[in-house]
Amino acid sequence: MSNRMASWWIVWDDLKWPNDDVYDKIRRRADLMQKSNVDVATVFGAHFRWDFMPIWDCLHDFMRTVADELHERDIKFFDHHSAVLVHRHNNRNEMRNVKVHSGPHLPFSPSYKAAECWTFNGSKLNDWRMIDARTNKPHYLPQYTAEQFCYNNPVFVEAYLEYVKMLIKETRIDGLMCDDAIYFSGYNACTCECCRTKFKNLYGHNIPKDDDFTFWGNWKNQAWRDWIALRYASNGDFLEQVKNILPVDYPLMSCCSGSSGGTRNHCGQDVLQFNRGCNLVHLELCGNTPPVDDPETINKSIAKKLSLSSHHLAAAKLKNFSCVGQGYGFTEPSANIIWALNKMLGSTCWFSTLKGRLGLAESEISHLPDDAAAIAKAFSFEYKYKELFDTQLVSQIAVYFSYNTRNNSFFGDIRNGYEQDYTDTLTELFSAGISAETLLDLPKDTSEHPVLVVPSALCLSDTERETLKKYMKAGGKIIATGACGLYDGNGEKSKFPFLSNYGTDIVFSEPERKDDFWDGNWQTETKCQACGNAAQWYELDTNLLWHPMRLQDENSPDLCDKVKEFTAAAPVEVINAEGYLTALHSSNIEDETLVVQMLSAEYDVEIDKELDAKRKHRSRVNLITGVKPKNVTRNIVLALNVDVENIKVFTPFNENSEVKISHEASQLNVALPEDCSYVVCKISLTNPNKTLNF
Ligand SMILES: [Zn+2]
Repeated sequence: MSNRMASWWIVWDDLKWPNDDVYDKIRRRADLMQKSNVDVATVFGAHFRWDFMPIWDCLHDFMRTVADELHERDIKFFDHHSAVLVHRHNNRNEMRNVKVHSGPHLPFSPSYKAAECWTFNGSKLNDWRMIDARTNKPHYLPQYTAEQFCYNNPVFVEAYLEYVKMLIKETRIDGLMCDDAIYFSGYNACTCECCRTKFKNLYGHNIPKDDDFTFWGNWKNQAWRDWIALRYASNGDFLEQVKNILPVDYPLMSCCSGSSGGTRNHCGQDVLQFNRGCNLVHLELCGNTPPVDDPETINKSIAKKLSLSSHHLAAAKLKNFSCVGQGYGFTEPSANIIWALNKMLGSTCWFSTLKGRLGLAESEISHLPDDAAAIAKAFSFEYKYKELFDTQLVSQIAVYFSYNTRNNSFFGDIRNGYEQDYTDTLTELFSAGISAETLLDLPKDTSEHPVLVVPSALCLSDTERETLKKYMKAGGKIIATGACGLYDGNGEKSKFPFLSNYGTDIVFSEPERKDDFWDGNWQTETKCQACGNAAQWYELDTNLLWHPMRLQDENSPDLCDKVKEFTAAAPVEVINAEGYLTALHSSNIEDETLVVQMLSAEYDVEIDKELDAKRKHRSRVNLITGVKPKNVTRNIVLALNVDVENIKVFTPFNENSEVKISHEASQLNVALPEDCSYVVCKISLTNPNKTLNF
């Protein structure tokens, strides 16, 4: 499997292929990738692949040449394209809109008129289009000036599979990233005849008209919950079919920007469905890393990105897959943080620039480094010190992610509901230096996870309840918060709420949707009231501790103190690492070696303001040129609960700076250089610890 991935951008000039200048550029870029220790190059550009149909011959020959050059240098080449989206424009304004706002796609956008007669594999492309529930017309995506093909349409799927076979044969690519089998615009897609038939056949329901709100947005209606389930599964159904025509174990992934949020119900995007077809888990770390203070771009905190990553790593672990975390930057300072963020929990790093998203002329940005150059320092460090990064997370605490709550309740759908409680829980744990892991299945026994945090699992099925009881009986400890188990697995009020078994009635009401289902901002705006029970810890059973408040509520629980009280001492504990998020690993390569990674949570970020002001397109990212950690201690203190033979501390981004270590008895003090974003401590244990089992 790859460890270090970078993007191979295809730009307008490359379509001059087979021009000699293009060939020289291919070789120069392949050399740079080799020098930068990249081991997989992944295509970006030529993204809406159906739009390139008239020039597939040229494109595929170009890609095959790239593949040959990369293979000569022991680098793999993956294709990456949208299987289902097509740009379409009607007039001059729309054409300009595509070109200015969809730069990264290399928008080879045909007009509606031109594409009207396009056929492939015996059918018209126009016949594959998704239908909008509100208009009953082909579905239109204004954000991309695009239409989308329906992956529940067997005629489309057959045509796409023919394309993939042709692609692999003609390009000799080593892997495929097949994107966008999700419903980008939300619940209004798709109501084509294929989707209607599938819903009827699988669940026995018809899709009601768009003004029937006994169905649309009504989580108390089983048909609505079935509709959500069908839309999730449609992604897995499609990717399974793609997998089936690929050689065994051929790398397949698909773009997934996270699976824990409530909006995933809207677009039908979840990593477990992706994994029915894929054998690589992808996580698109959208927007700026680290975040910038700009309301027009996407700026999630580092901790939030770690929680998204934790969920996808849990899905990857279930199938023994790798997780590829893809982040966007333009220069080395942000490339470094993107890499470190991925290393924190054990993901492969895919670094990508996103120059087309800046809306600037080529001449303005020609000074920016190529993808491989910006990530070279980080990748070269990883290549040199493999033992620090080929590791397993030492999980001190497990956090359960409740799929039933996300899918089957309004509370699970809104941003302020379940999503925030799950994210806040992980954020608090990482910030307190507690190495946390997400679980998507409840543990059957206590061998791997003796303590489990269950935040706001409103919907618990009978099976989940039984498993939790068995777990507690076996000695497993549960720390639950919020409205735990008030509903059954289907989101109906439970006749016997889970905590009523332990003499407690939860006082909780779900919020109601106040504004229009189709056009209102209810998903982001709806706020959820706290439980009405007194804000305190309740010891409901020897192994069951519950606090009614969520971490976002007033009088929120001191969760990390309780976790520390319940869990056995970790081999290495953080006494002081203020401002850093922490993860503890054990090395797969060197015996008896622990690796502590610490990444600054907050940053002062510098952007190129002059270029930013000239942008014709402003979304997603800024051109970050400098990064400094903020509010971090320069004196790390760790408690060592194991016998230590040797300690080394690395600060890969602070070259020529000195790190001072003092190690007395069971305490390690690390004096860090100024502006240290990322620290890795390698702790080699003495032999008697061999009996320890982490
Ligand atoms: Zn459809």
